[in-house]
Amino acid sequence: LLSDGEQRVLVDCGLFQGLKRLRQRNWRSLPVKPSEIDAVVLTHAHIDHSGYLPALVRDGFRGPIYCTPPSKDLVPILLTDSGRLQEEDATYANRKGFSKHRPALPLYTEDDAKRVAKRLEAVGYHTDVDLGSWTCRFEPAGHILGAASLTITWEGTRFLFSGDLGRDDAPLIPPPESPPPADWVVMEGTYGNRDHSDADLEENLGEVARRTLGRGGVLMVPAFAVGRSQAILYAVYQLIDGGELPEVPVYLNSPMAIDVTKLYVRHAAYHRLTVEECRQAFGRVRLVRSVERANS
Ligand SMILES: [Zn+2]
Repeated sequence: LLSDGEQRVLVDCGLFQGLKRLRQRNWRSLPVKPSEIDAVVLTHAHIDHSGYLPALVRDGFRGPIYCTPPSKDLVPILLTDSGRLQEEDATYANRKGFSKHRPALPLYTEDDAKRVAKRLEAVGYHTDVDLGSWTCRFEPAGHILGAASLTITWEGTRFLFSGDLGRDDAPLIPPPESPPPADWVVMEGTYGNRDHSDADLEENLGEVARRTLGRGGVLMVPAFAVGRSQAILYAVYQLIDGGELPEVPVYLNSPMAIDVTKLYVRHAAYHRLTVEECRQAFGRVRLVRSVERANS
């Protein structure tokens, strides 16, 4: 949260995910009233950066939420799913009786999540957004579709929020751009203590897929719905197109991943593929939305 005493701007508004002791932090009240925050700026759509927005809006936030055009389309998809999961978790806890709260309540509901959409305002990369005494600007961060680093300027002082950063050589998303010089940097550190391996996705996947298909098997790949699913589908398409794999049917079994994949066509300027390449790569995938078909 940035404040100059008069205006308050919140950078990202995520959920804690993972271990229970981390998730419990989602239930703590914020140190500031949501109604006193003037604007939110969002680096990207992932839930650990956007997932608290439904609670923020429900609890009184009435300002704009600035994000890039792909994020504006992605956020409602991810939040609706998150709201549904919160409700399912509460229902499950009530049925099994393992919560100490009676009844266990969801952190927020699917309806709360749907109310976020109308506060989202899309702004492209390299465009100044006037937030009163603050100005903010998105630059490509190379992470997922529409992900941005954020420079916020206040009276000549520049604050840079890296957001999650991607790699230079990702197959679908262009590399991060060098941001303008800054006085303060707030940096993500997910891979700060590790080296990425040089392993090639297509090569590794091709090897496993050939071995599995060769013995009449079915290759199942668990993948995150946003970003990873599309990268894997594209790799599979290239392997089939290049004759490295036989023409086997490819299924995408996730309503959320299906919705996200369709956004790649709409936001072709935000990734490396042309609209035609998207249609080629994703068009042949058979989409499975229902649980019944997924089980068959
Ligand atoms: Zn992320």
